[in-house]
Amino acid sequence: MSPELRILTQASVAPVADQDAYRLAGLDTATLCEAARARRDRAWGTILTFSPKVFLPITNLCRNRCDYCSFRRSPGDPGEWTMSPDEIRTWLSRAREQGCIEALFCLGDTPETGFREYRALLRSWGHECTVDYLYWAAEQALAEGLLPHTNAGILSRDDMIELRPVNVSLGLMLETVSDRLCEKGMPHHKAPDKRPATRIRMTREAGELRIPFTSGLLIGIGETLEERIDTLLAIRAIQREYGHIQEVIVQNFRAHPSTPMGSAAEPTEDDLAAAVALARLILDDDVSVQAPPNLSPASIKALIDAGINDFGGISPVSPDYINPRHPWPHLEKLSETCAAAGFDLRPRLPLYPSHLETTEFVDPSLRPRVDELQLGLAAQ
Ligand code: SF4
Repeated sequence: MSPELRILTQASVAPVADQDAYRLAGLDTATLCEAARARRDRAWGTILTFSPKVFLPITNLCRNRCDYCSFRRSPGDPGEWTMSPDEIRTWLSRAREQGCIEALFCLGDTPETGFREYRALLRSWGHECTVDYLYWAAEQALAEGLLPHTNAGILSRDDMIELRPVNVSLGLMLETVSDRLCEKGMPHHKAPDKRPATRIRMTREAGELRIPFTSGLLIGIGETLEERIDTLLAIRAIQREYGHIQEVIVQNFRAHPSTPMGSAAEPTEDDLAAAVALARLILDDDVSVQAPPNLSPASIKALIDAGINDFGGISPVSPDYINPRHPWPHLEKLSETCAAAGFDLRPRLPLYPSHLETTEFVDPSLRPRVDELQLGLAAQ
């Protein structure tokens, strides 16, 4: 047996050692996927999950300019949008009626540091900064019976301390640990908040604060295969230190015509499947591996075969504002695809059992609602 196949055999039952992870890169996708499936089946069984959510893009103003992003705007740009308090309340109410569990608050990075007009708008609504507005919005979500999860880009330690009592989890895609992608001519050159050290710092601080956390890997923006493995190993190292990373998203770059990377090649299904399989083989068993189905609607079976156990948030009420050209799948059809592959598709909370069953990761003020919703799901 070759050294690579020996490492793969070990990886199908337990995470590989750091130095061995790079040897996996030489194996073909089908072989990687077979081992990743075995790991997924062993750790997560025959249930695939999703989080029924409403997606609230609090603002699309962002001080960064990632070359692949079609979401961000500057003040005055066509399509600039900051959700008003009334809009937030209306969307949350609709979400409750449609049976959503998660309220996902997503926005551009630290918009108040770049845009005076935005600061004035927040003040006109009685809020000093974005985090204050997010706190208010999360309170509204909780009042509607929803569980808030916020991905606001880079947050300071104090920001996270403020948001913790009203959010069951926070998120920040690490995306990549490649500093090379921040150099001139690369996709993160004009995105100071995409410096890997900044994102690692926040991810670690969330762990210190015992905040359940979502991280992720973005593939197809110019990183090498070795850099993908570097990123997965970095996420694993932080998770092993703090135990707060519940899930890792493997997100594939999709080209939007209006962006500088509008004509860049997208990852193939094979690239994506290999990245998912590497994530499953490198990360520890208790970390959920998810891939967004709307970014690869023709590859759902390939994602399942590559070892995912989760599809992330799917919304019956709001589009994917980050990728508006890619609608969510219909749940019935997704469920049928899962069933054909031998899996049950089930809803879940934005807090995984590994974290909701402990006291340290759930703020006491959130506990009653979390337990009530979990009991409701268990009874379904
Ligand atoms: S990807 Fe995020 S950080 Fe980058 S420009 Fe878009 S909204 Fe801003």
